[in-house]
Amino acid sequence: MKAVLVIGGTDSSGGAGLVQDGRVLDAFGCAARLVVTAVTAQGRGGVTAVQAMPRDIVLAQIAAVASLGPVAAIKIGLIPDTATGALLAEALPRLWPQAPIILDPVLSASAGGALRGGADFGALWSLAALVTPNLPEAAALLAAPEAPNRRAMTAHAKALRARGAKAVLLKGGHLLGESAADLLLTEGSGRWFSGPRLPGQRRGTGCALATAIAAGLAQGRDLPGAIVAARRWLRTTWPKAAVPAGLAA
Ligand code: PLP
Repeated sequence: MKAVLVIGGTDSSGGAGLVQDGRVLDAFGCAARLVVTAVTAQGRGGVTAVQAMPRDIVLAQIAAVASLGPVAAIKIGLIPDTATGALLAEALPRLWPQAPIILDPVLSASAGGALRGGADFGALWSLAALVTPNLPEAAALLAAPEAPNRRAMTAHAKALRARGAKAVLLKGGHLLGESAADLLLTEGSGRWFSGPRLPGQRRGTGCALATAIAAGLAQGRDLPGAIVAARRWLRTTWPKAAVPAGLAA
């Protein structure tokens, strides 16, 4: 069984973050290894607290995971501050040079509220095999208006890749009136993935997609293959287990 390391935050509502990641890895038959970077309080009032874990606690978790053997892929979700990002950028390539890093640049929660102060991912951006922003995240990262169509999405994906990420999956789910169209931009080529939008709104869809892609890569799929499998799984299997937006029971 391949091990996937998920690095990110807890969500007290159970809808997103590391709990979600664990469910996805279970479903894909991967072993989950966890590094908690932050504890967040999320309930009916949206995000009410974010506490970054101290540096030595993050480092101790990384060392403990390393003691268990190799990891086949790494998914990074919430990084609460630039110091944690810098620490990860130093440790991950040293300990797991072969493991592809999927960076989901989480900035806020759909429960309402910011999860981190800035949008600077530092050296992690260029270490990532894939970054997976949605349209609002891409706009915040580029300090630009949100892309209203596929043409603008292409420009945003190019600008984000130019910052050093090897590949960008720009998720177009927030594009109203379109099917759920995601753009994968790798060196020299772009590919659209389209399909019916998931009905309703659910918590943690972005977390789940990035983790499902990491699971696919860990199990030997190539990047487009892992994206196709992750999107298919998200459309078909995952909705039954997902928590609706608004935290309704
Ligand atoms: N909360 C935490 C701890 C997360 O890691 C994430 C996403 O990765 C979110 C919230 C955002 O998920 P959602 O947009 O569904 O609120």
